[in-house]
Amino acid sequence: MTAEMTMTDIRFLAPETLDDAISAYAAAQGAARILAGGTDLLVQMRNGVARPGVIIDIKGIGELTDIAEGADGSFTLGAAVSGAVLGEHPRFGTVWPGVLEAINLIGSTQVQGRASAGGNLCNASPAGDSVPAMVAAGAVVTVQGPKGRRQLAVEAFPAGPGRTNLAPGEIVVSFTLPPRPPGSGDAYLRMIPRTEMDIAVVGVGVNLTLADGVVTAARVGLGAVAPTVLLVADAGRALVGSRLEDAAVDAAAAACRAACNPIDDKRGTIAYRVRAAGVLLRRSVAIAAERAGRN
Ligand SMILES: Cc1cc2nc3c(=O)[nH]c(=O)nc-3n(C[C@H](O)[C@H](O)[C@H](O)COP(=O)(O)OP(=O)(O)OC[C@H]3O[C@@H](n4cnc5c(N)ncnc54)[C@H](O)[C@@H]3O)c2cc1C
Repeated sequence: MTAEMTMTDIRFLAPETLDDAISAYAAAQGAARILAGGTDLLVQMRNGVARPGVIIDIKGIGELTDIAEGADGSFTLGAAVSGAVLGEHPRFGTVWPGVLEAINLIGSTQVQGRASAGGNLCNASPAGDSVPAMVAAGAVVTVQGPKGRRQLAVEAFPAGPGRTNLAPGEIVVSFTLPPRPPGSGDAYLRMIPRTEMDIAVVGVGVNLTLADGVVTAARVGLGAVAPTVLLVADAGRALVGSRLEDAAVDAAAAACRAACNPIDDKRGTIAYRVRAAGVLLRRSVAIAAERAGRN
């Protein structure tokens, strides 16, 4: 541990290795919280929702702050990489423009300088913007804890609003996004009642691969309309084999509407959210297809 500072009732640790972070997390026996950008955690602490005895800052750990492109074209993003740093990567936004757009929708410029995709996923809001795009991308999340390392699909990570399938003591290490076949494109769109700095009432991520105008692979992630972000497999199936004719896109939109199980609140009624899910599916498909045509 390089930095340790004791405040009145909170210990702040800044380990330089993942093993040290995991040991400290286990030693705290449930009293610790992981800190990435802090844009959720510090708000929760200020509101009294979170009262950690120990804070473990993971931003000094190399593996959690690296962005690596593999020889096969896959990308591995450290869980604590901020949206601002990811936006400056020379290749990531070219290969995964939809994922980058989703991450860069999080908050303001100030928030962007801190907020991470790992924090967005672990906060487990059904409206987390990066999550539907990661689901559409087929991203896999690597986690490590006292019992070792394991991987799970992003869509298998949230367990409910504010709850995850992390085992006690586990930390999210990285996201792995698969290699892109030629003819691939992705997109993420959200609906917010205001023009900026708001929480999505619907978010749709679409990832397509086309060959000679025919969709050969399609994944759709849907956010803010159910207790967790969803992979809408039926929507992907409706698109595969099509040339994105109206009937196929209509079927995919219907699958998104059918997958919705939203809340009804001041941001949007159930009927509005369900309808908007279909509209955003169509628009996201059009953007992803246009991008696929360029690659
Ligand atoms: C003004 C403002 C605007 C916002 N706008 C948006 C928005 O438009 N869209 C949106 O989706 N969100 C938004 N948010 C919420 C927040 O910025 C995001 O959820 C962000 O991605 C959180 O990332 P972070 O790195 O700051 O997480 P932190 O606050 O550091 O952590 C969030 C939670 O995850 C845990 N955690 C973090 N990293 C790990 C890890 N690697 N392993 C295990 N646990 C971990 C923490 O203990 C904490 O419980 C906004 C927040 C603010 C303050």
